[in-house]
This record gives sequence, C-alpha cells and structure tokens, in this order.
Amino acid sequence: MAIERTLSIIKPDATRRNLTGKINARFEDQGLKIVGQKRLLLTEAQAKKFYGVHADRSFFGELCAFMTSGPVVVQVLQGEGAVAKNREIMGATNPANAAPGTIRKDFAESVEANSVHGSDSLENAKIEIAFFFAETEIVE
Ligand code: ADP
Ligand code: MG
Repeated sequence: MAIERTLSIIKPDATRRNLTGKINARFEDQGLKIVGQKRLLLTEAQAKKFYGVHADRSFFGELCAFMTSGPVVVQVLQGEGAVAKNREIMGATNPANAAPGTIRKDFAESVEANSVHGSDSLENAKIEIAFFFAETEIVE
C-alpha cells in the first residue's frame, strides 16, 4: 500500500481532558507519523466550512458549537494507507459501536464529543490538509 497523508483533529472534549499525548501515542505506536501539528481555536466560520458536508444534518449547529468550544489540535498523519489506518485507530463515530482498543471506545464522551476527527478518503484528506496547513508546515 502507498504512503498517504490524512488530516486528524483532536477535538475539544479531548484537549479539555489533557488527552493530546495519550491520543498521539495511539497514532505513533501504530505506525503513523505526525508530520504536522498545531493547536488552534476554530472560529465559527472555520467550523461551518470544515463540516459543510453536514450542513443539512440536525446536529450541524451543535457540532459547530462543540468544535469551537475549546482548543483543537489539527495534525497531518503520514504512513502506509494512513487514511484507512487512522479510521481504524479512531473507531466508529458512535463510541457505543467502537471496537475495543480504539480511541473513541477508550476516550469519547458521546457520539458528538467523540475525541477525534479523521479524513474519510484520500481525496478528502488532501482537501482537509490544505484547509489547515501550508506545505511548509508539514515536515517529514
Ligand atoms: P466521522 O467523524 O466518524 O467521520 P461523520 O462524518 O458522520 O463521522 O460526522 C462528523 C461528526 O459529527 C462526528 O465525528 C460527530 O462529532 C458528529 N456527529 C455525527 N453524528 C452525530 C449525531 N447523530 N449526533 C451528534 N453529533 C454527531
Ligand atoms: Mg466524517
């Protein structure tokens, strides 16, 4: 499988509980390299644009409020099949359905406050990485 890059976000429920290091260890221990990373407070406009694909969903307003409720850590993860591998490490959207040993099973508070975001395809990963990072901010 090819070396890929994917966008990960450590969400406000996790930064609030000081879980950045524990979550990063999950990625590193399972072969993903953090090649870009920064801690940000998203604006309402950024959250709405980033999650624009969900604009029609009933939870959209709450999701944007949640994502701007505290700091996030945006990061670029790199490795063999990084997009799918990161989704595996994260676990299912709803922690109730997440497999044992996944980040969401172990750390998520709810289906909304589920600790991490990860790109769902290589195509979206490219768009999402460019949303937050300049090429010069990603260093192998
Ligand atoms: P994923 O993050 O696993 O790719 P989605 O793209 O479907 O999941 O949803 C984006 C985010 O919206 C989820 O990670 C979660 O924070 C929130 N979300 C999804 N479904 C719900 C829901 N039914 N109620 C509240 N928030 C939700
Ligand atoms: Mg998604």
